[in-house]
Amino acid sequence: MATTMTAPALAATDRCDRCNSQAYVRVVLPGGSDLLFCGHHWNRHEVALRPQAIEVFDETHRLDVAAHVSSDDR
Ligand SMILES: [Zn+2]
Repeated sequence: MATTMTAPALAATDRCDRCNSQAYVRVVLPGGSDLLFCGHHWNRHEVALRPQAIEVFDETHRLDVAAHVSSDDR
């Protein structure tokens, strides 16, 4: 099964399971269930979840881009 790195795994309608913010990380667990996290909660749970996950779609790099665009640091 090929993994397509260019296709976005997450949509704007995907929400963090913890706080309902926009999700940037999808964690697929054995058995096919998945969890969604915002960047903040992914940082908190990554260490615990990575060893259990069969797949992790990490799009937090998009979060960094959005933060740079929205922060007016001039
Ligand atoms: Zn969250």
